[in-house]
Amino acid sequence: MEKADYNHVVVGSGISGMTAALLLAMNGKKVLVLEKAPVPGGSMARFRTGGIPFDTGFHFTGGFSDGGLLYDMLTVLGLREDIEPVFLTEEHANRFVFEQTGEVFDFPAGESRLKAQLQHYFPAEHAAIENYFNLVNQVCHQTRTMDIRQINAPMELLDEDYLSFQTVLDRLTENQQLKALLSGFSMCYGSAPVEISFANHARMCQGLYQSVARVKNGGEAFIRAFKQAFSKLGVELRCGVSVIQCLDIQNGQAGRFLLSSGETVSFESAILTIHPQEALKLIPAEFMRPAFVNRVNSFEPSAGFFSVFGVFEVPHAAMDNSMVSLLPHTDTNRMLDPEQPGDSALVIIRNIETVNGKNVQTVSAFEPCFPQETVAWSRSTVGHRSPEYYAYKARKTGRIRERVNAFYAGQNGTFKAVDSASTLTFRDYLNSPDGSAYGIRQKTGQFNLIGKLPVRNLYLAGQSSLLPGIVGAMMSSFIVTRAVVDKIKFNDLICERLR
Ligand SMILES: Cc1cc2nc3c(=O)[nH]c(=O)nc-3n(C[C@H](O)[C@H](O)[C@H](O)COP(=O)(O)OP(=O)(O)OC[C@H]3O[C@@H](n4cnc5c(N)ncnc54)[C@H](O)[C@@H]3O)c2cc1C
Repeated sequence: MEKADYNHVVVGSGISGMTAALLLAMNGKKVLVLEKAPVPGGSMARFRTGGIPFDTGFHFTGGFSDGGLLYDMLTVLGLREDIEPVFLTEEHANRFVFEQTGEVFDFPAGESRLKAQLQHYFPAEHAAIENYFNLVNQVCHQTRTMDIRQINAPMELLDEDYLSFQTVLDRLTENQQLKALLSGFSMCYGSAPVEISFANHARMCQGLYQSVARVKNGGEAFIRAFKQAFSKLGVELRCGVSVIQCLDIQNGQAGRFLLSSGETVSFESAILTIHPQEALKLIPAEFMRPAFVNRVNSFEPSAGFFSVFGVFEVPHAAMDNSMVSLLPHTDTNRMLDPEQPGDSALVIIRNIETVNGKNVQTVSAFEPCFPQETVAWSRSTVGHRSPEYYAYKARKTGRIRERVNAFYAGQNGTFKAVDSASTLTFRDYLNSPDGSAYGIRQKTGQFNLIGKLPVRNLYLAGQSSLLPGIVGAMMSSFIVTRAVVDKIKFNDLICERLR
């Protein structure tokens, strides 16, 4: 049999693809990464307007504290020193504001401080708050794969995987305001409390309760670090080329990919880090059962965002890295319901960027929205949209600007919007099928797709496989890569790096 061009091809160069490729190379494999976009990084990439950098997807994360999941994964990858977290530790750095009443709730860093603060805000709910954090910790403790030293443990489902987050909230308290605050981080996974399981909510949020951090130079810091490691280990990265189809499927295994350039590449196995519905399109229908296809096609999109990017003219001393979530009411389900009109939550992220040696206060404001909102223009592409679409964007931008300015009124500054993006913008720049921010919607009792596909040497990882966000996406790649390489060697590598 002819030798394959590569041991492994990784499709997609977002955080999942970069993680998988580096892990494979660290295990001595010859790896090719294929990326459809002209630049690597997927949702980690930044863009510049007037020389000012803005983040496309990734803005902040949990898991960066010593021994946190992200901290450990970066340690194993040998990249921790290259990526500098900027922790939001100031008292008011992470706040929730109810717009109708003007009430403000600060979320301090550290779970015990946060718990005490919430108990201070809601003294009558002392026990409910205690129970909530106990339940979150219990789920995370029982989820053995949340410690990457135990990545070899089977992924067992817990009772809380079959309970919606809303059910747990309703059992804990009747206080609507507290429920809204406890579900405030739903915007970090884009599924409503009635939909997501309590277990997945807990797994997503525990790290954010411990610490919230931005990263110096945003996602670009990750991309740079991965690229350096790729050159050291000989990982090939090709951008501007996509995988079109799987070829030479024999005995349930594929031999080659047909690329958009017309070339083919052969491999022993491949890890796809793209949307599951896109992965399906690469496999000829005769190799998949209809029930499998139906399951994958039944996955619905998570929320996306309408985003406004701008600068805030403030005195130097008033510049900060912070995050404010404006909540128009206390019903998080309504905020994440595609059918509900009106304002949703607005997450405002302030960041200090250095441009030409000067500090600039940037602001990115994100309001969840769904592809339904832009369906009328879904056939159009970037730069070729109708005047009605631009009117829609102007209307949304105006309303968001109004909300941002109302919140910061009297704070000695004015928000100037310089760019905006709809779910269509995200769809087209990130090559996702629907412009959702987090891939598929996380639903109680839904079995996501991770690992082996019906063509046995094709594996699926990525944000839709396990959990979204950079931590969930990277975790999926750790789990899937372990399935592809020598498991003992892989476990030894993790233990050795984390010693
Ligand atoms: C607006 C927004 C805000 C967000 N904020 C945060 C945040 O603050 N914190 C956080 O942790 N997460 C955030 N996320 C989510 C986070 O960015 C993602 O969960 C994560 O980065 C996804 O990584 P991925 O590698 O799985 O997918 P992606 O980053 O989407 O990468 C997939 C890559 O595959 C490529 N591709 C697609 N099809 C093909 C093909 N056929 N051939 C070759 N290449 C292909 C795409 O071009 C893309 O580069 C946000 C997302 C968005 C959109």
